[in-house]
Amino acid sequence: MQTLDNAQKKFLLDSIRTIPDYPQPGILFYDITTLLNNQQAFTMVISHLKERYASLEIDYIAGIESRGFILGAALAYALGIGFVPIRKKGKLPHTTISEKYSLEYGFSEIEIHIDAFKNSNKPNPNVLLVDDLIATGGTAIAAVNLIKQAGAKCIESCFILNLKSLDGAENLQKLAPIYTLLDL
Ligand code: AMP
Repeated sequence: MQTLDNAQKKFLLDSIRTIPDYPQPGILFYDITTLLNNQQAFTMVISHLKERYASLEIDYIAGIESRGFILGAALAYALGIGFVPIRKKGKLPHTTISEKYSLEYGFSEIEIHIDAFKNSNKPNPNVLLVDDLIATGGTAIAAVNLIKQAGAKCIESCFILNLKSLDGAENLQKLAPIYTLLDL
């Protein structure tokens, strides 16, 4: 399976804008809108992931609101499979399953439609989870739990950026394999 070489990794990292002290003091925010509006960078990411996942038997992509929707939907289209949104509480219109998780301060909650994977002809379909970045891993761990509760199996989680010092990838790895393009 092909991996990105160092020149490609540098190109992708350079395409991502960093904003200090956003959304609060002390946070360095990785703004992937500058990767998305860079035709070469966006194409490189989706083509690379398409190549990585084309040979695996993935039935759905689940994307985490909101940047996981953009990457996940583009990849689902490239692979010719369905896309399932995992959203912040109160945004999905049908019956949902929800999962609370802790943030640095306080709690957050994400949801999935109870029947999100039910149009598959498999009893326990394979799902690839996609988001732009993993930090503490709280959001992704909650998402993997939701996928399981909705009757599917997360066979891998994939992120463009991994903030290694926050140990999220290490914690998530206990639940499902993880693939990250850029480890910082
Ligand atoms: P976590 O649950 O701590 O792993 O946080 C991951 C979620 O928060 C992802 O959906 C990211 O898009 C977002 N996020 C967390 N930290 C950052 C950051 N420094 N820059 C950009 N997005 C972030």
